Order: sequence, then structure tokens, then C-alpha cells
Amino acid sequence: MYCGFTEEQEMWRKTVNDFMDKEVGREYCRKVYQERQYPYEFYDKVVKQGWLGLMIPEKYGGVESDVVMYTIMNEALAKFGVDIATSVSVSAFSAMNIVHHGTEEQKDRYLSRVVKGEIRFSISITEPNAGSDAASLATSARLDGDHFIVNGQKVFASAAHAKNNIMCMGVRTDTSLPKHKGISVLLVPNDLPGLEMRRLDTLARRATGTNEVFLDNVMVPKENLLGELNGGWKILTGHLEIERTAVAGMNVGNAQTAVDDAIRYAKEREQFGRPIGQFQVIKHMLAQMQLEVDAARLLTYRAAAITDMGIPCRKEVSMAKLFASETLFKVATQGMQIMGGYGTMPEYDMERYFREGKQATIGGGTSQIQRGIIARELGL
Ligand SMILES: Cc1cc2nc3c(=O)[nH]c(=O)nc-3n(C[C@H](O)[C@H](O)[C@H](O)COP(=O)(O)OP(=O)(O)OC[C@H]3O[C@@H](n4cnc5c(N)ncnc54)[C@H](O)[C@@H]3O)c2cc1C
Repeated sequence: MYCGFTEEQEMWRKTVNDFMDKEVGREYCRKVYQERQYPYEFYDKVVKQGWLGLMIPEKYGGVESDVVMYTIMNEALAKFGVDIATSVSVSAFSAMNIVHHGTEEQKDRYLSRVVKGEIRFSISITEPNAGSDAASLATSARLDGDHFIVNGQKVFASAAHAKNNIMCMGVRTDTSLPKHKGISVLLVPNDLPGLEMRRLDTLARRATGTNEVFLDNVMVPKENLLGELNGGWKILTGHLEIERTAVAGMNVGNAQTAVDDAIRYAKEREQFGRPIGQFQVIKHMLAQMQLEVDAARLLTYRAAAITDMGIPCRKEVSMAKLFASETLFKVATQGMQIMGGYGTMPEYDMERYFREGKQATIGGGTSQIQRGIIARELGL
């Protein structure tokens, strides 16, 4: 078994990394985060490269690549922070719901437009009373003639406020069925009458942003039902697997930069007449950090590769998401320790990576939930 990248994959890694270094830059990522600005310029540049279509079929303007290539992109786009990469990633993995479950008419209507950047997608499952227990979601959608009438409240809908955003929203369409069975997915544009949003003030993800969504008799056209009526749970669980692999890739990308920044600092910063990187304790901290990032990367690409083979891999996906998010948090915590007081200052970025890392262990399903999935897959 070969665990490296092929020549084509290496070229793709270099292409996206060069794009981030030359076309985007660390300062831009820090600035939009500090100013809490959705990164429209970054998103548009990615669209221009054609990368929103990475996993979209050629018929709709995409390049129909695989999950490994998509993961390589996510890793590189997140090199200066998961936050900015999320704007692209959430749109790309949410659009996959249409690729997998949309009707021909829906694919025609949406997919080429997402590739061109005319629309973007997000995912809205979580509610105030339905977090880890997502199947308890209660936002109701009642069919009335040509429309669903939607009422309820969503929370933590990342990027949902951005221009021309369409939420893939989990809604309850039948209260008489068991909780996993009465759920459907609707495509809900964010500018419908009766829909309001409030941006949340969170520890991280301040550029891409995450929102509360209030729905008061929102009329969603019947043709915006994705998949079967009351068949939404299957769509949402499938979605979460793609999301978790993408998130793992982004966490690895950000974690690698945290290690690289800490190494550079340890070589430059002198105390007691020599660079702090010459103290054995610091050397070993850095060695351990790189070890854990490499392990997270291997778990992540294993999950991506098995997904590409079409083999069920819920355990491997949860392992990748869990380990990569906890690794980002760990290496950023250690990175701040190595950078001393400077590590706590926004201009050194490490404190931003630390925030991203903490939040990464919650969004996309908490670490506890991932351990629960792994244990279940082990027959426990
Ligand atoms: C930055 C960010 C972005 C997000 N973006 C989105 C998004 O775009 N769309 C979306 O739908 N959601 C999004 N979420 C929501 C996210 O998926 C939820 O926060 C997460 O699933 C946890 O739900 P909760 O916050 O309600 O916590 P709870 O479910 O209330 O959990 C609280 C604590 O209890 C633990 N716990 C709960 N149940 C169990 C159990 N069975 N066993 C062991 N421990 C348990 C949890 O691990 C956690 O520690 C986002 C969250 C964050 C932080």
C-alpha cells in the first residue's frame, strides 16, 4: 500500500497552495476574520479557477474529480485558517446533495450556476433543541398546494447569510412517523419573505460566519423538495460523511501551518543566548506536533480514498474528523506555548488557529459523537 500522493495529486497540491500564497495570502485571511467580512473576493477567485465544480459532473460544467482531489483542495485552501476555506467547502459539499439526490430538473437548475458562482449552498440541520440529536429537529414544513409552509428556527447555519445562498434545510414533514422517518430536505433560498437571519458572535469562523435562522410561514415551492418526502434522514447522514471528510482536510491544512509557524518562530526567537528551538523540550514538542499532523493527514486521506472506492467507511470518516480537529486544537495550543506571549496576539495568527481548533471539535458533530459512532461501528 502506497501512502503518498501521485504525480497528478502533487501537482494539484502545488497549484492550490500557490494560489493561496500568491492570490489570497495570510493577511487577507486575517483581515476578513478580524473584520467579520464574508470572503466574497476569495470565493470569486476560487470560482474563476473552476474549483467549485471539482466534484460536479462534467455535464453541468464541473470536472467530476474524486474525494481525494477535493480533500487536497480543502487542505490547501485552509492553510491560513479553516474559516475562509469553509466558505467554499460548505458550498461544494452541500451542492453534492443535489448531485446525489436531485432530480434532473434540479441538477439542470442549480449545478452549473453553483460552478459559475451565481448561487452558493449551505447546510442547515441544527436547531436550538436539536444539536447532536439532529433527528429531533422540529422546524415544520406543511404542504399546501404548490408550496411547503415552513415554520421554526435553525441555528449555526454557516455561510447561510451570504449573497444568493440556498440552504439545504432539514425539516419535519410528518410528526406521526418515528423521528428519523418524518424528515425531509428542502432547498431554501435565503431571501424568501418570512425568513430572517442573525449572525452569531462565535469564538472562530468570524469571516464565513454562522447564523440563527427564523422562519415564519416561509413559502418554499414544492419543486424545492430534495429527494423523497420523509426520506431526508438518509440525505442528511450521507451529507455529514462528505462534510466530515472535507472538514478533516481543512483541519489538517490549518494544523500544518500552525506547526510550520511554530518551527519558524522557534528558529528565530532567541532566549538565554540561543534560539529556543535548540532547547530539547521545544524540539520534542515540535516533533510531536508534526507527528500528530502527519497521522491526522493519513487518517483523512484514508477516509477520502475509501469513499472514492465506494466502500462504506463511517468509522474511518469519524476517525479522520475526530483526530484532525483535536490535532488542530492540540498543535495550536502547543504553538501558542512555543510562541509565548506573542502567540496570544492576533498578528501572529496562532491564537486564531487555536480558536478554529476548539470550534472544530464541535462543528460537524462533536468529538463525543464521533467517538460514539466509532464505538458503534466496533459493535459496542
Ligand atoms: C462553528 C460552527 C459551525 C456550525 N455550522 C453548522 C452548519 O453549517 N449547519 C448546521 O446544521 N449546524 C452547524 N453547526 C452545529 C453543530 O453541528 C452542532 O453545534 C453540534 O452538532 C453540537 O450540537 P449542540 O451545539 O447543540 O450541542 P449538544 O448536542 O447540546 O451537545 C452538548 C454536549 O453534550 C455532548 N453530547 C450530546 N449528546 C451526546 C451523546 N449522545 N453522547 C455523548 N455526549 C453527548 C456533546 O458532545 C457536547 O459536548 C455548527 C457549529 C459550530 C460550532
